[in-house]
Amino acid sequence: MAALWGAWRCFRSQPGLCRIGRALSSGKSEYDLLVIGGGSGGLACAKEASQFGKKVAVLDFVDPSPKGTKWGLGGTCVNVGCIPKKLMHQAALLGGSLKDAQRYGWNISHPVNHDWSTMAKAVQNYVKSLNWGHRVQLQDKKVKYFNLKGRFVDAHTICGLAKGGKEILFTAENIVLATGGRPKYPSNIAGAQEYGITSDDLFWLKKSPGKTLVVGASYVALECAGFLTGLGLNATVMRRSIPLRGFDQQMAAFVTDYMEAYGTRFLKKCSPTKVKKTEHGRLRVTWKYADSGKEKSDEFDTVMWAVGRAPDTQTLNLEVAGVKTNPATGKIVVDAREATSSSHIYAIGDITEGRPELTPTAIAAGKLLARRLFGQCTDLMDYDNVPTTVFTPLEYGCVGLSEEEATGRFGPDHIEVYHAFYKPLEFTVAERDAAKCYIKMVCSREKEQRILGLHFIGPNAGEVIQGFALGIRCGATYSQLMKTVGIHPTCAEEVVKLHITKRSGADPTVTGC
Ligand code: FAD
Ligand code: NDP
Repeated sequence: MAALWGAWRCFRSQPGLCRIGRALSSGKSEYDLLVIGGGSGGLACAKEASQFGKKVAVLDFVDPSPKGTKWGLGGTCVNVGCIPKKLMHQAALLGGSLKDAQRYGWNISHPVNHDWSTMAKAVQNYVKSLNWGHRVQLQDKKVKYFNLKGRFVDAHTICGLAKGGKEILFTAENIVLATGGRPKYPSNIAGAQEYGITSDDLFWLKKSPGKTLVVGASYVALECAGFLTGLGLNATVMRRSIPLRGFDQQMAAFVTDYMEAYGTRFLKKCSPTKVKKTEHGRLRVTWKYADSGKEKSDEFDTVMWAVGRAPDTQTLNLEVAGVKTNPATGKIVVDAREATSSSHIYAIGDITEGRPELTPTAIAAGKLLARRLFGQCTDLMDYDNVPTTVFTPLEYGCVGLSEEEATGRFGPDHIEVYHAFYKPLEFTVAERDAAKCYIKMVCSREKEQRILGLHFIGPNAGEVIQGFALGIRCGATYSQLMKTVGIHPTCAEEVVKLHITKRSGADPTVTGC
């Protein structure tokens, strides 16, 4: 009945343009699977389902940011996340390499400048090529793609709204929600939304953001402030509490100490109170210190909010489909099979409660879900020991438990922490500061000493951690690690050489080979 009513409403608003799914005429749904959201998780799930010969459709629609930035198919990671971020991080690292190069004998004429618009254009063109690539892949795999914003009409019917206001109805046996999230703006700060941008805008700026204030102190804030500093811009991080909440805090402090030593300004234990535009077109930000209550202010060219992300669930009309969310977070509650409270509706990726907000987990969850739905597979996504890397100027990669988590879970007497400060060989000739290049491995103290967590700060941290993540997934122990032969001369070999325990109090500085 609800489907009929929805179809009628749709028909009245756009006569002749809405399509009533087969559910209404023959009792059978139009699609075996309909995915709402064409990002990391949704695309992976749709493409995998199509391999089983199923009739699959994807609805993807990007609402422009409050500043009007918009982009194409592929979701956050491709357009306003991992990809442009890593490329801009690379641009910043190249600046460091240019300095190193002179020590290695390269004559580089001065002054060396970075041109934002050249970088941005190249990055944006690459992202556009990925948008196109995703469309081609969907076509090749016979997945129907619709540039429509989906919402439930009833538990099996979705209404897709086009940019011009036209609506189309779809019916499906199974529905996967993968609508991701969008950056939040603070609600109680005058001028925050009017004058501020978010990461949704930063990567699409045609001109340099200039002197930038980044508010927040987690992944997005530190990575963006890190590459802005590396590109030679004046970047400030304003943090109200600890950096990188949820990460090992000793490592987090090393990451931010390094950033501070290399030019990022940190305003600590304070929060902005207002943003105003000056007569010269700059932004005057006032902030307040939590301890003293004192206020200060400064002018910036750009203010970027990196204060977390909100799941894109509000406009899905989830109630009519019986899909439950956590009222505190707005995220969708799912079980181990990614099933929501409505048995044929599933959710994956950033919109799901309690899952990591990472591309590889969204992709893996989407693929496994399709295999369980349409193949013989019964495997569930394992969210334990998910490796990750924070792409700050000195990268931080980790997998497994932090020292705090391991101590809390097993007690200090039951864990052994091996650690070392090391010097990457390439830092020596370049006379780079290696004071914060540090590795920490958290092990159980029982028997063979199972590895519980590995933390690495240094160049190419993601590349280093990826391989060890396999070992840890397979239950690697400290004694097995000690039998592993290193590759010399690399930074990764320092992991297999770890032998100093924190408990011993011995100096963990590595000297020589
Ligand atoms: P998304 O990729 O966000 O896709 C959701 C899609 O659904 C979007 O296209 C959206 O517009 C669309 N949509 C929303 N509502 C509707 C609707 N009603 N109808 C139709 N379409 C809709 N992760 C990493 O692993 N490594 C990184 O280095 C990394 N860097 C990041 C850097 C930044 C700045 C950010 C913000 C994130 C980063 N992430 C990174 C996280 C990663 O991007 C996300 O975890 C991932 O994209 C989540 O995938 P998803 O499928 O859940 O959603
Ligand atoms: P997070 O939720 O991780 O962090 C939000 C940050 O903003 C915290 O430092 C928080 O401080 C601060 N904050 C929140 N509200 C305010 C406020 N009103 N005023 C000042 N500060 C505030 O969000 P992110 O956007 O950084 O990251 C979202 C997710 O995206 C991550 O969890 C990650 O999974 C993913 N991501 C992954 C990356 C990667 O893999 N390399 C890179 C970037 C993102 P407090 O701690 O005090 O609450």
